[in-house]
Amino acid sequence: MLDPTPFSSVADIKEFLRPVFFGLEEEDLDELAQASAVRTYRPGEVICQEGTPGSTMYVTVSGRVDIVKELAPGVERHLQSLGPGEIFGEIAILQQGARTATVRAADSVTALEIGQEAFLTVLGRSPSLGIRILVRLTNRLRDSDQQAIAALRKANEELNQALGKLERLDRTKADFIQVSAHELRTPVTALLGYAQMLQANPTMQSHADLQLLVDGIVTSTKRLARVFDMILDASRVVADSLQVTRLPVSVAAIFQAIADDNREALSQRHLTLVMQGLRELPVCYGVPDLLRKAFNHLVNNALKFTPDGGTISVSGGEVLVPDLGPCIQIVVADTGIGIPPEDLELIFEKFYRTGEVALHSSSTTAFKGGGPGLGLTIARGVIQAHGGRIWAESPGRDEIACPGSRFVIQLPLGAARP
Ligand code: ADP
Repeated sequence: MLDPTPFSSVADIKEFLRPVFFGLEEEDLDELAQASAVRTYRPGEVICQEGTPGSTMYVTVSGRVDIVKELAPGVERHLQSLGPGEIFGEIAILQQGARTATVRAADSVTALEIGQEAFLTVLGRSPSLGIRILVRLTNRLRDSDQQAIAALRKANEELNQALGKLERLDRTKADFIQVSAHELRTPVTALLGYAQMLQANPTMQSHADLQLLVDGIVTSTKRLARVFDMILDASRVVADSLQVTRLPVSVAAIFQAIADDNREALSQRHLTLVMQGLRELPVCYGVPDLLRKAFNHLVNNALKFTPDGGTISVSGGEVLVPDLGPCIQIVVADTGIGIPPEDLELIFEKFYRTGEVALHSSSTTAFKGGGPGLGLTIARGVIQAHGGRIWAESPGRDEIACPGSRFVIQLPLGAARP
């Protein structure tokens, strides 16, 4: 049932409008009352719709209306509720544009509709009405500003809570991985020891077929141990618990040792490893074992992601970096498949690997050989623990053209001195 109209004459409407447009001349009130049409709305009915052109303003006579704004499809923000004697819909007239919000009847509503012509005529004659509308608009702006700030604060708080929860979950996961790796590393060490004893046993050596089996066990167990070691290294890096004591380090000696370790794989894959400028580098200070691990991951990756016959080059030099001071800079470059631009940072995240992981082979030195996706996390953690930085550069990934990748490391000389 619609509300019956509460007015029996234009004079009634004029009396109703008097306090609403307080201070208006009689003739202006007359004009507004003449131009008013009484309308009733059912609960929930849309009185004016955001985005549609508006040439009518409204004065609520009875009931309440809700002013809402659509933030996203299906998501509304409630801006304001207005009761009897309050006006709405005037902004679109003043702006000569579309409705900036939707107004809906909260319950049964009776309202006066006043056309834009009468409203603008009266407004033009009455500066006091203009000022009052301005004050109203400013108040409404301030209200919605405060509402927006409150909503932003709430959203920020919720985001922070969600972030805290995710961080706690990530820590639980990292703890689980670290504890599991610890627990599993010990029996694997024992297993490797026994397998190596068997391998060296003369009886075993006299049986070629058994020897083959034991060799397989030793190789696989070593690989398993290497994976657990990497998980433990990565856990330390993620937990920021790397102990960096400062010992003199020869970068050239480290890379020479890495070259020696990889000699067989390099020759099998017909890869050339070139080293330039490393002997001329000054001694830097840090943990040789950790730096060796970091550099080894880079060379190992270059080996894995460069097709047979390619070149891996390691070059060294001294650079002055604005925020790090004097540094040694090492670049490990390859003529491999390259890295897509969107992955250049992501590859330093733990367990992140580019391309189709299922296609990676299980060998650590074969072309596109597999790995747990931890090498670069460890490398970055180690370099950062030494006060330095590491990043990747590549024109993109292309397995045919092989544009190559470069990993640049900067290690500060000054700050690292004990
Ligand atoms: P893993 O080698 O164990 O997969 P890493 O953290 O060492 O893990 O490397 C992460 C990923 O970064 C690799 O899986 C590979 O997709 C990419 N990547 C690393 N080094 C290179 C490189 N030299 N050339 C091309 N891609 C590389």
